Amino acid sequence: MSDCIFCKIVAGDLPCDRVYEDEHVIAFNDMHPQAPHHILVIPKTHVAGVNDFSDEQQLLLGAIVLAAKKIAAQLSVAEDGYRLVMNCNGHGGQTVFHTHMHFLAGRQMLWPPG
Ligand code: 5GP
Ligand code: ZN
Repeated sequence: MSDCIFCKIVAGDLPCDRVYEDEHVIAFNDMHPQAPHHILVIPKTHVAGVNDFSDEQQLLLGAIVLAAKKIAAQLSVAEDGYRLVMNCNGHGGQTVFHTHMHFLAGRQMLWPPG
């Protein structure tokens, strides 16, 4: 999608601090980190949000979570733990409408979230 910042990152037209990439996803550091490790895992294809995934995209959705698991191992935080968040639409607090999973680690997370 031409006016999507995350599509531009996937295309290499905008820079990012990449930490992981495979056939389906890329992951890069969030520009406003909320934890010592704050990474966004995004599909390489444009899907605006969780509401827009079809049943046929099950593999792509799974790839996002599996990428997070691999990033946790890469950063040696798998055992200490981490938080995965996907914000959806207004009440979810979504501001970028290209699906992304927040990977947060490196400090104690609180519950419930704000
Ligand atoms: P949302 O609020 O949609 O769940 O999360 C969007 C996230 O994307 C925010 O945490 C924000 O800091 C991050 N973000 C927005 N634009 C950019 C960008 O151009 N580069 C990077 N690395 N992060 C971005
Ligand atoms: Zn996009």
